[in-house]
Amino acid sequence: MKFYSLNNHNIQASFKEAVIAGIAPDKGLYFPESITPLPADFFENIEKLSNHEIAFKAIHQFVNEDIPDEALKDIIANTLDFDFPVVEIEENIATLELFHGPTMAFKDVGARFMANCLGYFSQGEKQDVTVLVATSGDTGGAVANGFLGVDGVKVVILYPSGKVSEIQEKQLTTLGQNIEAMEVKGVFDDCQRMVKTAFLDNEITDHKKLTSANSINVARWLPQLFYFLFAYKQAKSKGKEIVFSVPSGNFGNICAGMVAQKLGMPAKHFVASTNVNDVVPKFMANGVYEPMSSVATISNAMDVGDPSNFVRIRHLHQDDLKTLQQHLSSYSFTDNDTKKIMKEVYSQTGYMLDPHGAVGYLGVREYQKSHPNTYGIFLETAHPVKFLDVVEETLGLSPEIPSQIIKVMDKEKKSHKISSYEELKQYLITT
Ligand SMILES: *Cc1c(COP(=O)(O)O)cnc(C)c1O
Repeated sequence: MKFYSLNNHNIQASFKEAVIAGIAPDKGLYFPESITPLPADFFENIEKLSNHEIAFKAIHQFVNEDIPDEALKDIIANTLDFDFPVVEIEENIATLELFHGPTMAFKDVGARFMANCLGYFSQGEKQDVTVLVATSGDTGGAVANGFLGVDGVKVVILYPSGKVSEIQEKQLTTLGQNIEAMEVKGVFDDCQRMVKTAFLDNEITDHKKLTSANSINVARWLPQLFYFLFAYKQAKSKGKEIVFSVPSGNFGNICAGMVAQKLGMPAKHFVASTNVNDVVPKFMANGVYEPMSSVATISNAMDVGDPSNFVRIRHLHQDDLKTLQQHLSSYSFTDNDTKKIMKEVYSQTGYMLDPHGAVGYLGVREYQKSHPNTYGIFLETAHPVKFLDVVEETLGLSPEIPSQIIKVMDKEKKSHKISSYEELKQYLITT
């Protein structure tokens, strides 16, 4: 299968080329040239399939020209070695828990799949690939963990000093091996700018093969469709129409869910739930897309003012607002709404939401006001301990720290402190 640039459909790449380049030469996002629905009996008999079988059948058409079946099976087995439970928290509302992976956020799935693909593609290559990535928190940990020990791949992560949580910092800086952490004196935007500058700097790219690992990369974006199918498999027996509410920032996760629907998954509707960074809710209401500067919130992994994957969602629906509205609703919620619902759900059900999942929960509630007879599944995108300050302050109690986290808290932080682009450049040229 070929992938074309959303800016110009004549610019095409194989899966392998798209993964290694990240973005098309004209800066467009890559998109699969076709999405062929899976046979009806796949969904009829889905409960008889293992998660690995489901993932294999679902992703096969997108990658099979570049990855032989046996290698693909290995990649899937390495990516999906944890659970994706659907947990009902009240009648007709359940959560799909995506935090059982090594860094306890859904990004583990995309990051591990991409790492394994890149590892496969670099076999037999003489030159290492360097993955350069800027993070405001969650992405870095998932990428570092996913790429740890992958032969032929080096990872350099930039993060803003003092601006990520202690747990997140430990997840970035304690792994060693092929993972280097750059602690940047500045904010996330400074890290992002340095990464972008490096990609355009010939003195670096002439002797280093650089790639990015953000959600515009097809190998990080597409595998996210797996767990929508796992959720369908678990909720199917409810016999109700299923609605997914996805806490959204860059809109890669929800877009992957919509690809699962194009593959034939019987989902009735999607809800994109956002914090006050509400570019998409506004667009869905009036058809005008107006990017803004992002506003800081307690669900900070969704503080995005110009969601990079939304163009893919529009393209998936023929760039037609009416068609899109049939499949997608979008609502935004304030930090106050979020804290209030965290408290309410905890006191009524005992379930502890993280601030992102809480926004997802609010989205289900809002949709069900007008569609009461549906089964709403919201995605819990991170474990509450990853946002310990907010959870402790809001609920007035401390969640138990899981073993994955305790393990890294004891390890020693190692980072290179840098304060300018020149220092990053020197590092990349001399190592
Ligand atoms: C990245 C992230 C999101 C947003 O996902 P997108 O695919 O960018 O929409 C939501 N919640 C958490 C915890 C995240 O880390």
